[in-house]
Amino acid sequence: MSKLTGSKKATQFTESVIREMTRLNDLHGGVNLSQGFPDFPAPAAIKEAACEAINADVNQYAVTWGARPLRDAIAREFTRRYGLPIVPDQQVTVCCGSTEAMMSTMMAIIDPGDEVVVFEPFYENYGPDAILSGATPRYVTLREPGWSFDPDELAAAFNDRTKAIIINTPNNPTGKVFTRDELETIATLCRKWDAIAISDEIYEHIIYDGHQHIPIATIEGMADRTVTINGLSKTYSVTGWRVGWTISPPSLTGAIRKVHDFLTVGAAAPLQEAGAVALGLPDEYYTKLAAEYRRRRDVLVEILERHHFVCYTPAGAYYIMTDISGFGFSDDVTFARHLVKDIGVGTVPGSSFYKNSANGRTKIRFCFCKKDATLAEADRRLARLMVVQ
Ligand code: GLN
Repeated sequence: MSKLTGSKKATQFTESVIREMTRLNDLHGGVNLSQGFPDFPAPAAIKEAACEAINADVNQYAVTWGARPLRDAIAREFTRRYGLPIVPDQQVTVCCGSTEAMMSTMMAIIDPGDEVVVFEPFYENYGPDAILSGATPRYVTLREPGWSFDPDELAAAFNDRTKAIIINTPNNPTGKVFTRDELETIATLCRKWDAIAISDEIYEHIIYDGHQHIPIATIEGMADRTVTINGLSKTYSVTGWRVGWTISPPSLTGAIRKVHDFLTVGAAAPLQEAGAVALGLPDEYYTKLAAEYRRRRDVLVEILERHHFVCYTPAGAYYIMTDISGFGFSDDVTFARHLVKDIGVGTVPGSSFYKNSANGRTKIRFCFCKKDATLAEADRRLARLMVVQ
């Protein structure tokens, strides 16, 4: 057999469907409601800070685990919001986006044979993260309409091989915000089985209707077994800057930093300086961000319902999962391709968020991190969609 092939690991997962949908959308000149990135500007103050840093010749490597002003700001803000003391030198590692933060964490803690519990529907990166790090994923289903889990099903997924559980709250793609009760249930299992919680909190500030973001690190007994992952991308509308981070217990930080260092050395130095400025924005910035996204959510839910989609209104993050059974298509991928090619609207097929694609067959995800004009154009195009009665 030829050796001119990809590795076994690399053949076990497919290309990202989310990123593929963006490319397909661009090919067909569609309105891109697939990959979750804003089409409106980032705050002027942080763009100016990035330009100033470049002009001041912050052009060389930052310290591999992150520039001091940014690490200090990350620790300061987490402590201020959630009351948990964080020591930047021992606990904060800046990475190239939360994507690298997640991968570095998984590669730093997983041994072959370890199991990782993953809620599904899941953000599609978690599958390849598990394969590349050598973990065996164990899936636990979040069921619509409330997207909660069955505590017995969760308990049954843990055993003495369980090394970690991945949590994402507010959640992509469902918009679920995990409640304190749910996090307590998860925490009890982590303590019982000596497992680590890896908590992706990238949508921390994008939350609606009085729901509250609770980092699992703040639940009793979890601070020394939680890796919290976050980044600048969603909070400051700079998904292309690729600045993310981990907050980890000191016992895990060394392993995460070594993997991170040899993977990427470090994130863009001038953008880290701007990140420190971003984290210093006043509280009104975050209040306004959430209010603006809530308004956009309501605009898109109204559009989609008018065009006969069944919407699961999200409590957080900037996606809407919908049910497409009423359109009479055989599956979500066929429907998403029809939407982008013939109607001109890019979406993400639901199956890309499930291990067993049959479970996502009747679902499509839309994102609403878009200008009003973009949503209005999607509205006009969706009017051409036919419903089977
Ligand atoms: N989180 C975004 C989404 O789900 C995309 C992130 C990415 O493509 N890196 O659409």
